[in-house]
Amino acid sequence: MTGTPPKPVFGPPHRASEPRRKPPAKKRWSGLPLAAHIAARGSILMLGILGVIAVILHIDRLPEGDKPWGEARLDEGIGTFTYAHIAALRDDPTACFAALDGSEMDFTPAEPSAQTVRAECRVDSGVRINRSNIGYAVQPEVASCALAAALYVWEREVVRPAALEHLGSEAVEIIHYGTYNCRRVNNSARGRWSEHAGANAIDIAGFRLADGRQVPVTDWDSDDARSAFLEEVRDGSCPLFRGVLGPDYNAAHHDHFHLDMGRWTICS
Ligand SMILES: [Zn+2]
Repeated sequence: MTGTPPKPVFGPPHRASEPRRKPPAKKRWSGLPLAAHIAARGSILMLGILGVIAVILHIDRLPEGDKPWGEARLDEGIGTFTYAHIAALRDDPTACFAALDGSEMDFTPAEPSAQTVRAECRVDSGVRINRSNIGYAVQPEVASCALAAALYVWEREVVRPAALEHLGSEAVEIIHYGTYNCRRVNNSARGRWSEHAGANAIDIAGFRLADGRQVPVTDWDSDDARSAFLEEVRDGSCPLFRGVLGPDYNAAHHDHFHLDMGRWTICS
């Protein structure tokens, strides 16, 4: 062996080619002092709050039916929340009578049922409809306040436009089989009580027009303008009432629309 042996190396190997790592940069607040940053964030938050207030103020100027927190205004057109407002009247007699008072309906509050009437057949928030948007061939003896409110809107917003569109004449009279009837569903001896037992339903038999024509619900399958009219009335009834049963439901309803403000939602 010739030459000098290499000197032993101590310590970590030297890596001349590896670049030196820079220490991580300190976080900076977007180049702004902390106080300015807080002010910027506060401004954004304030703009958001002002935006929400502006939206609330805008909605508050809309018709009641377009406000989620609005009241039932029966003389207004149908708004986004009209159906919900009317449905809520069923459980709020005070609001219901206020809504009827605010409308053009001529009605008389009915005397509450006598204490001797069985609970299922009591009507404590009923009205007698004296004059509404459309006349009634026979004055309904009593209707729950919520039913009267829904009928008032239904006459104007559903029946009238459908009659004009399909039959070219005003609907001037509603023919019906009555509202109040202290009985169970289908006149059964047992089972659920009918909404008629609380005057919370009406059976509509047909309509009389200004030109003298009558359109009974039995014209349902006439396959002409009369059936188109009746079908539109049925379809338009469903968002306003909770229970809507007609000829499509069963044979027992071949000659009338049952409209109620009960708790069961059905449209047939
Ligand atoms: Zn009925």
